This record gives sequence, C-alpha cells and structure tokens, in this order.
Amino acid sequence: MGKNVVPEKFVSIAELSKKLVAGEITSVEICQSYIDACNATEADVKAFRVLDAEKILADAKASDARRAAGNALSAYDGVPIGIKDNISVTGEACGCASKILEGYEAPYDATVITKLKAAGFVCFGRLNMDEFAMGSSTENSAYDKTTNPWNTDCVPGGSSGGSAAAVAAGFCPATLGSDTGGSIRQPANFCGVVGLKPTYGRVSRFGLVAFASSLDQIGPLTVTVEDAAVLLDVLIGCDKMDSTTIPNQEGGFAAALSEETAPKKIGVPMSYIENEGLDADVKAATLKAIEQLKADGHEIVEVELPHADYAIAAYYVIATAEASTNLARFEGVRYGNRAQSNDLLEMYTKTRENGFGAEVKRRILLGTFVLSSGYYDAYYLKAQKVRTLIKQDFEKAFEKCDVILTPVTPSTSFEFGSVKDPLQMYLSDIYTISVNLAGNCAISVPNGEASNGMPIGLQFIGPILGEKELLQTAHIFEGLQKEAK
Ligand code: GLN
Repeated sequence: MGKNVVPEKFVSIAELSKKLVAGEITSVEICQSYIDACNATEADVKAFRVLDAEKILADAKASDARRAAGNALSAYDGVPIGIKDNISVTGEACGCASKILEGYEAPYDATVITKLKAAGFVCFGRLNMDEFAMGSSTENSAYDKTTNPWNTDCVPGGSSGGSAAAVAAGFCPATLGSDTGGSIRQPANFCGVVGLKPTYGRVSRFGLVAFASSLDQIGPLTVTVEDAAVLLDVLIGCDKMDSTTIPNQEGGFAAALSEETAPKKIGVPMSYIENEGLDADVKAATLKAIEQLKADGHEIVEVELPHADYAIAAYYVIATAEASTNLARFEGVRYGNRAQSNDLLEMYTKTRENGFGAEVKRRILLGTFVLSSGYYDAYYLKAQKVRTLIKQDFEKAFEKCDVILTPVTPSTSFEFGSVKDPLQMYLSDIYTISVNLAGNCAISVPNGEASNGMPIGLQFIGPILGEKELLQTAHIFEGLQKEAK
C-alpha cells in the first residue's frame, strides 16, 4: 500500500515573507525546517535530483545578513524555491534527468534565476522530471521514480513531477517548472497544488534547456494562487537573450487579486466535459465547480473549441520536430557524457545511443521523420495549419468570455507502470496541449478529491497576456473552495 506523506499544513510564500519582514523568523530557520521535512520523507517521495543542504544554508545565511543590515533585496529575500532540473543555475547540475548530461554543470544563470536571485530567493535543490521534459508521469526520468505524496504507489504527473511533488510534500513553498504541453498544470493537478503556465513570451526561456521552442514556457508551482501571482510578478519581462519575450509588460498580478472586480464571464466548452474519456469523478467535480461559480454570481457561457480534437496529433508533430532539432546539440562534444571511441561518428552515435532514454529516442525519430523531405508538407506543414485553427478557436471563444474553464486531465493520478502505451500516455494531455499550441496562459487549481482519495484539479485558460483576469478568477475559485470546506 502506498503512503500518504502530505503534511497537515502548508505555509505560503506570502506568509513566510510577512514573518521575514517582521523579523519573526530567519531564512536559515525556514530553510532548515524544509531540509528537516526532506530528511523525514524525501526517501519516500524522491522529488529531488540534487539537494545540497550546505549550499542552501549558506545562501540563507547570506540573506539573513542582508536583512539584518537593512539591505534586504525584497520582501521575499530568504524564501526558498525549488528548481526543475532543466533550468540553469550557475555551478549547479543541470541534467534534465538524462544520462547524457551526467556531470554537466550550468556555467550561467537562466534569466528566471537571475530575477529570483535579484529578489533574494534561495535556490532549493534540483527537481526530478521526465527526461528532457518528455512525458506525463516522471517515469521517463533516467534516475529515480518520483512518487505522488498523496499515495506513493502513484505517479506525480509530469514532466515537472519533482516540482509538483516537492510542493505537495511540503519540501519547499514553491518551485519552478516548465510547460510545453501541460507539464506544469498536469503534475500540479495530480499532486493537489497550483500550477501556472504563463502566456508564451511572458517569461524568458534563456537558460531553460529547450524541448520545443515554440511551445516551452517556464512557470511556478505553489500552494496558493496568490503565490503564483507573486512569482509571476518576479519572473516576467522582456529579455534581450530571448527574442520571443514580449516587450513592455505590466505586472502587478499579486496586487490585482485584492481589487474589487465585476463578476467574471466564464466560458465552458461542453464538448470537453461530455468527452467519454473523462473520469466520472473529474466530471462531477468540474460540474460542481461550475455550479459554485454560478452561485457566486459569475456568468457561465458555452463556448466551442471545434478543433481541439486535433490538438494532440498536431502537438506530437510540432513538438517532436522541434525536439529533434534542439536535441541535436547533445553529441558528447559540448556537454556531459561522452562515449569512448577513436572514430568521431561512432563517438556521436554511441553517446546518443547510451545517453538518451527510450522516450527521447522515440521523439527524435518521430521528429526527424516528420521533417524529412517529402513528408514535411504532409505532416509538419499540416500540423502548423491545425495550430492556426486552434489559435483562432480560442480567439473566437474569448470574444464571449474572460476565461475558459475545463478539467486539467481526463483522470486523477495513476499507479506506476499502469499506462504502458505511449499513445495512451499522450492522451492525458488532451485538455492542456491546445493552450500551448495557441500560446495562451492557463492555471491548474485544486478542485477537491476523487473517491480514490487523489486530488482533482480545475483548469482556467486566459487569453494571450490575460493573466490578470486568469489569476483573479482562480483566486475567487480558491476562496469558494475554502468556504465550501
Ligand atoms: N506530456 C507532454 C509531453 O510528453 C508535455 C510535456 C511538457 O509539457 N514538457 O510532451
């Protein structure tokens, strides 16, 4: 029987920050208490690839010294945050949970890390993930199998499985993940935490190991919607190192949560809910959420996303095509592991053969195929056309509503090894993937528990740069959930 190692109480970044500012607690005390929590149950959860307590405490000590001298970098100086193993932190391993990057240490900070450090956040370990962020259960890590803190026989979701499990197990108040097709929202939903995928271009990907560059986005996993807003305020911005970032962005997301707002117009694509693959408990919870929001005075309108059925097919053409190109850089010369051979070509092939796991190889092969001459028009070009139709579906839907409400995944977390067919695994992204194809923002918030005791999540989707309305709506829903308890 699996264990439940979810703590009784969670502390948010907002609460920690208040105590730090009031001088009621130090960063060393905070970090030590999280390290103690890891010492107690990390052996069951295995969320981290690396956890260097000494380094964390040294950074915490430096933060306390700044605050004591009146030089705190922000109200959050000293708050710890866990980092997914595909985001570069100077001098720390950045292995993407892959054998091919064994021994590689990042020589620079990702822009998101530069921003977190400038606000005084303490980087708290490297979190396990599906190899190169390819997967939905973290079973594709070349290392440990991270478990779901609610039931350690079950998967935490993926690919940011370590990031979600660490928050759910109370190992740190927040983490960073990356979301290419659902990798922040799906594990957040499996582990009962909040997960935000910002609009494409909101947050710089400089220093994120690229999987599919037209889809990848970094975002936070937290215990509250407010914390997601706090972190988004820190992370956003145009970056000359990432030409896809959007200029002239305005923040103020955390402050916007306490604004008086008019009732929201919430769009519901009924086809998502009528989908026969949707688990009965997830369906019931989604319908109940709609009723709760209606009772709170919000307007529910029906919207249509007619091309959603083609999203998975389009994604697995586009994402694999981009991955096959992005992963060409791992050949044993520039990064990590190198196979021994006197022949250069053999060295490349052996390095890649030994270094990549089965799922990564599958994606590289598929991506190379869809881009190959004669097939490009039939697959890649067609997928891009579908992508445009999906984007237009959202644009049309948002003419009628502020945000869209959907389930996050068709089911709750499943047991290790129970989903064997890769295609079936791909289907768990059915509600999240179209958001990445369109570039919108979306958030997963806890929405009760299923009869098997596992968490259920609810997804809100916002228009491009619609994070303010998105976070406000998620915050309202979070409040309704608390009231209902
Ligand atoms: N599960 C999806 C995949 O395997 C999404 C992964 C992600 O968002 N990084 O590609």
